[in-house]
Amino acid sequence: MAKLFSGIQPTGAIHIGNYLGAIKNWVALQAKHDSMFCVVNYHAMTVPYDAEKLPQMTLDLAMDLLACGIDPRKSILFIQSDVPEHTELTWILNTITPIGELKRMTQFKDKSTQYPDAINMGLFDYPVLMAADILLYKSEVVPVGEDQVQHLELSREVARRFNNTFCQIFPEPKPLLTPAARIMSLTDPTKKMSKSAGPASYIALNDPPEIIAKKLATAVTDEARKKRADPGTPEKCNIYSLHQYFSSPAEIKKIAEDCRTASIGCLGCKKILANNIIKELAPIQVKRKELAKNPDQIKKILAQGAERARAIAQKNMAEIKTKTGLLL
Ligand code: SF4
Repeated sequence: MAKLFSGIQPTGAIHIGNYLGAIKNWVALQAKHDSMFCVVNYHAMTVPYDAEKLPQMTLDLAMDLLACGIDPRKSILFIQSDVPEHTELTWILNTITPIGELKRMTQFKDKSTQYPDAINMGLFDYPVLMAADILLYKSEVVPVGEDQVQHLELSREVARRFNNTFCQIFPEPKPLLTPAARIMSLTDPTKKMSKSAGPASYIALNDPPEIIAKKLATAVTDEARKKRADPGTPEKCNIYSLHQYFSSPAEIKKIAEDCRTASIGCLGCKKILANNIIKELAPIQVKRKELAKNPDQIKKILAQGAERARAIAQKNMAEIKTKTGLLL
């Protein structure tokens, strides 16, 4: 089985964009890959954050992943900072990464604009830490969304440089592009669903049914439909896009027809979507509540995951340190 690595930042509530864009896919992939899923808390430090809240956010994210179906019997689930070799390898990789490559990273430019007073070395070095996360385990495939493709390309470049400079150690990790499309914001469908635009713009995995219905009731639709007498264009509507992920093919077909002929109102259309989202999230929410009753059990799963990850990391680091002349 191919070695797979993926990471997710503990930055607060998981929303359906994270779920459809990454986690649901990971759950399916873990059956066919030798998988490692990492809560990347070192990455979360590259922008301003609340140190008091980070431990709980880390634990919450681990619970979310387990509730969604990440199975510690099939995959290694662990916290990045529990394996110090991630930062150790970052230093080694820093020494072969040209600054010019890092300056080209669009995420660095975007985040620097978003946090002009907090542009730090960690933010600049983020892609090298990501390369270390992946290469430390000699990972072969990495499920990524469109926004991480550039970073993964840098990881491949760093692997090539290391292999050419020292020794052929690292496989060049291949992207596994997630089939789930971009899930757009409820309040501004021209932008990706993200927590930064406030709770009304996203549906969190743990939103109760009444909140899901309320958020959808006020969500932006095919705005043009309201302004003209002729029927709506479902393809231009974010609600219709969301139906693609939560409704049955028969329902989607009927909604498209009814929208075009104006036989359904937007409110009715949103109610169908709300019910389907509520149905899909219900078992995850039940499991999440169960897990929350026993945080010590979650800590135990993470400790066991870290132990397994460390064993691989230490073995690979010994080889890397030998080849780079760090061991006597
Ligand atoms: S009926 Fe549904 S698909 Fe059509 S514009 Fe309204 S919300 Fe969108």
